[in-house]
Order: sequence, then C-alpha cells, then structure tokens
Amino acid sequence: MGKRNRRQGFVVLLLCLSLVTAASGCSQRKEYQESTVYAMDTILTFQVLTDSDSEIFDLLRKEVDQVNLMLSATDASSELYRLNQSDGERLEISEDLADVIVRCLSVAKETDGALNIALYPVTQAWGFPNGDYHIPNGEILKDLMKKIDWKEIQIERNQIQLLPGMALDMGAVGKGYLTDRCVAVLKEQQISSALLKLGGNIYAYGTREDGSAWRIGVQKPFSEEVAAILTAKDEAIVTSGTYQRYFEKDGKKYHHIIDSATGYPADNELESVTIVSESGFQADALSTAYFVMGLDASIQAWRQKEDIGVIWILKDGAIYYTENLDGRFTAAEGTETYMVRQE
Ligand code: AMP
Ligand code: MG
Repeated sequence: MGKRNRRQGFVVLLLCLSLVTAASGCSQRKEYQESTVYAMDTILTFQVLTDSDSEIFDLLRKEVDQVNLMLSATDASSELYRLNQSDGERLEISEDLADVIVRCLSVAKETDGALNIALYPVTQAWGFPNGDYHIPNGEILKDLMKKIDWKEIQIERNQIQLLPGMALDMGAVGKGYLTDRCVAVLKEQQISSALLKLGGNIYAYGTREDGSAWRIGVQKPFSEEVAAILTAKDEAIVTSGTYQRYFEKDGKKYHHIIDSATGYPADNELESVTIVSESGFQADALSTAYFVMGLDASIQAWRQKEDIGVIWILKDGAIYYTENLDGRFTAAEGTETYMVRQE
C-alpha cells in the first residue's frame, strides 16, 4: 500500500468548479455556451467556447442520437436491442458496434471479468435498465447467472453470435464511448475549450479560456459536496459509485454495479472509483471494473498500467489516490488521504 499521506484541503459546494464565463471583449466574440440533453438515462451537458451561431451543438446532438441508436438496450430501434433479441442467431452488426464490443472484451480479459457486458439478464432482473427496482428471486437469479459468460460471445469482424438467452448491457461504457466521439467532433470543429458532463462522466477539453486547467470536483458520495478537486486538461474524469443509482429495501441499499460472481451489487469497502484517462472509453470501462474489483485488487491492476490516474473513495470517507495525480489533487478539509505508489 502506498505511503500514508494526510492532506488538508477545502470543502466547496459545487460539483464542478469550471464556471461558464462570458468572454466579452474577446476579438472573435466567442463565449461559453451550454446545451443540455436527456439521453442514455442521464443528463448530458455540453459547455463549449464558441461563436453564437455555431452549429457545434447540432453536431454533438447527432453523436448522441447515433450512439443511442447503437448502444441502447431499452430502445427497440437500436442495434443493441436487435442483437439482444437474436436468441443465438449469428448476426451482422455495424463496424462501430463490433469495435466497442471487442474493446469491452479486451477490458473484461484485463480485469478478469470485473467488467462484464454480458450481464444484461441480471441487471434487468434487478430492474436497473428501466427503473423498476426490486431484489430478484434467488432461483431466477441462479438461472440467469448461467447466461452471463462474456467468454461465450463469439465475434469475428462484424459477425457476432451470442448464446440463446444472452444479452449485452453497454451501460458501463456507453457514456465514455460517446464522450470520445464528442471529443472527435470538437477537434474537427477546431474548438479550443469545452467541458462535457455526461452523468458521472466528465471530459475537460483543452484549457479554460484564460489558459488555466479545468478544475473538476469529485463528488462526496450521497452528498452535494465535493470530496476532492482535480485539475485536468484533455482528460476524461469518470466516476462509478454506489450513490449514482440505487434503491433501498428493508433499510439496505442496493446499487447498480453488479459483481458477476454473485449476481448481487458489488459489496466491498468502496463507495466510488474515479478514473482519469485521455480516453473516455477507458475511464468508463475501468471505473466500473475497478469498483467491482475492490481496493486491493484494483491497486494491483493499476500498477500494471501507467497511463491512468485513480481516486478511490472508501465507505469510511478515506480517499486513496495514485501518485501520478499528486500535485493536481486537493481533498476536502479533514479527509484522510493515502497516496498509492507504483512501487
Ligand atoms: P457505470 O455507471 O459506468 O459504473 O456503469 C454501471 C452500469 O453498467 C449499470 O447500470 C449496468 O447497466 C452496467 N453494469 C453493472 N455492473 C456491471 C459490470 N460488472 N460490468 C459491466 N457492466 C455493468
Ligand atoms: Mg463505467
């Protein structure tokens, strides 16, 4: 475990400190403009430094619609929906969808199945995709557990075959994948500064208008306060946490991140995991996977990688963070923090 490292910081009441500031007097007359859309079961907010007549928001909306039409498990017109109805039949899918699935399978391998996109029968049994939350019947759950082996997904180029009864859930990666597509659009349109907020997925694009790094708040679980603030530039900051979607039954909380080994919400010392990465997809996939793995296993997994930062918030309020975030990271006052070293 990394060296104990207590720090003092400060509490701020806003989740995200990157405030929209009008750039009056700027010669190009650009200013931060904001567009909000509800999709992928969450609120997506785009803040972009742009001309007032910019078409950027139409282009971003197009990406949202296309990704939704590809990855939604609940929209009957989506490609994933069709795949989930295939009941063992071999199917031809788009190259984009095949690419996302292959990348998910690679993360599944890397995390020993902690990320499991074949979990849909189980997440559905808990009612997470449609909000009809309930504890599934034990026998039914046991049966469904036979249908969630991601190693049974046969995919070659854009030909895919699932076992009968299998179905995929891209909820753990969809927003990260969409983030990367939006970032590509911002680059194409030569945007210099933007902040994308897709539920728990944030992307700090470029710098703020004055050239300073974005300041991103990591939410304190079950609170409106921030637990820590991180400076960021051209990076995704993605959090998976128990508080993001859950229901309560008989005084116990049941959240939406499922451990494939049990079919139940992953139950460990963690309340949230935040990943910092240049890739929105990677950050989203690994935040979910590291949450399932728990603190010790995910620290070991991080040590095999060099290109990501990680912040773990424990149920007792302590924060662990990787040493590559040192200097960019300020925890709320009074928080116990521990730096995790590469060794
Ligand atoms: P995230 O908020 O990115 O951590 O993703 C959580 C969502 O991914 C859930 O709402 C489910 O749709 C799905 N999911 C839950 N557990 C897993 C898991 N172990 N592997 C892959 N997807 C999962
Ligand atoms: Mg995720």
